[in-house]
Amino acid sequence: MADARHTKVLIIGSGPAGYTAAIYASRAMLNPILVQGLQPGGQLTITTEVENWPGDTEVQGPDLMVRMEAHAKAMGAEVIADYISSVDLSKRPFTAQSDSGTVYTCDALILATGAQAKWLGIPTEEKFKGFGVSACATCDGFFYRGKEVVVIGGGNTAVEEALFLTNFASKVTLIHRRDTLRAEKILQDRLFKNPKVDLMWHHSVEEVVGTEAPLGVTGVRARHVETGEITLVPCDGFFVAIGHAPSSELVKDQLDLHHGGYVKVTPGTCNTSIPGVFAAGDLTDHIYRQAVTSAGMGCMAALDAERFLAEQEE
Ligand code: FAD
Ligand code: NAP
Repeated sequence: MADARHTKVLIIGSGPAGYTAAIYASRAMLNPILVQGLQPGGQLTITTEVENWPGDTEVQGPDLMVRMEAHAKAMGAEVIADYISSVDLSKRPFTAQSDSGTVYTCDALILATGAQAKWLGIPTEEKFKGFGVSACATCDGFFYRGKEVVVIGGGNTAVEEALFLTNFASKVTLIHRRDTLRAEKILQDRLFKNPKVDLMWHHSVEEVVGTEAPLGVTGVRARHVETGEITLVPCDGFFVAIGHAPSSELVKDQLDLHHGGYVKVTPGTCNTSIPGVFAAGDLTDHIYRQAVTSAGMGCMAALDAERFLAEQEE
């Protein structure tokens, strides 16, 4: 028989939003359970230096997330390594089915499932994934010592990935479809000053090219977005850094979404379209998508859940 666990507050996700919600819900004596998912610690575990977490001039992303987990546990949250495969929000208590077989039920649910890297969606990208195509320089950069790599994108992630890769690669080409970057000015400044970085403006990537045996990347075919001219850029690794999409798969048919899949909340709250279900962090934020704003929303979600449960008891 499936294991069943009931909790007043179930938190799905272990990024800054989930752990902050767990800290606040624990301090409200709600004994929350937090389910970590496949990426314990969330997106910050795949980066290196974080320079905008208040109180730390510089902190390693994975270290920060280990501290957040310890903090949540110290306040009394139960942190479980499990993955939620489906949820039923049609009636309370809400139900969450997990991969381990445990069925969690809860009186209030906090969704903090964050976001995941977007891919270009071209067939050759899929073919070479794990064989020269990556969306995580921190994870795979080490394999490109003394080699040439290409990064595509123009946001903070792309620029940070490109800069990080200069620690290993002999040359990093950043391909962007416009001629201005979205990335923070401080990052742009570092990028423009780095002698290992080449910039290729007004280009998209239409194909990854490589060898069959062994499977491996030898270059990317870049297209000038205005003239259509094709340039073959030789490289051993291709890093896709074109943004992130919200991980709303679990609830896409049950909650109101907007802006391409972000969970809709009532402005100024974390209330979703179902009373008792709250959303926080990158899952609901199509504008800021920062660690500190996610943590802030985690706090709000826990306070909203506490208020909701108190009203139910009355
Ligand atoms: P996430 O961190 O995305 O965590 C989501 C969590 O949900 C994960 O633990 C995952 O395992 C869990 N989950 C998902 N689905 C399920 C499921 N079905 N069941 C159970 N659990 C599930 N922001 C900054 O402020 N400063 C930076 O320097 C910075 N650097 C970054 C560098 C990179 C490379 C990236 C990708 C992002 C960076 N960001 C940075 C953005 C920041 O990481 C995010 O804004 C923040 O992590 C979002 O937090 P979150 O809690 O909403 O979700
Ligand atoms: P982002 O800010 O959405 O930028 C995505 C970039 O990819 C944009 O430059 C976009 O081009 C480009 N792009 C999108 N689709 C493309 C396609 N199909 N082909 C080619 N290029 C494409 O995403 P992000 O850089 O991953 O950042 C996500 C969030 O995390 C942001 O809020 C960011 O601030 C945060 N973050 C923060 C830090 C930090 O604080 N240091 C670090 C990393 C991430 P256009 O510009 O033309 O739209």
